[in-house]
Amino acid sequence: VDIAELKATLRAFAAERDWEQFHSPKNLSMAASVEAAELLEHFQWLSEEQSYALPPDVRDLVAHEIADILIYLVRLADRLDIDVDRAVQEKIAINERKYPSDRVRGNAAKSTTYDDQEK
Ligand SMILES: [Mg+2]
Repeated sequence: VDIAELKATLRAFAAERDWEQFHSPKNLSMAASVEAAELLEHFQWLSEEQSYALPPDVRDLVAHEIADILIYLVRLADRLDIDVDRAVQEKIAINERKYPSDRVRGNAAKSTTYDDQEK
């Protein structure tokens, strides 16, 4: 996904429908959360094993929820003039410092349980 291109596509989509008025950061962050809940709904009550072996039609629906979430996040970033590529690079660097592989390998505990590094 080319984020800059997606931002422009979504901006045009909203403009053509006069929907900018609804696309406040508040509303877009809520919409992203609603779409995340729709994603969870497809996995609710499944076993770990079942969650890997989705029927093709459900897998397609999951793919569309992933797209919905990404779309709202990119739209939110556009409205707040946030550089998503930079934010992702920064966050990966933070996570690499926070979870040094030699200390956390094979351990899913939160960093707060093993030290008091940057949160
Ligand atoms: Mg959806």
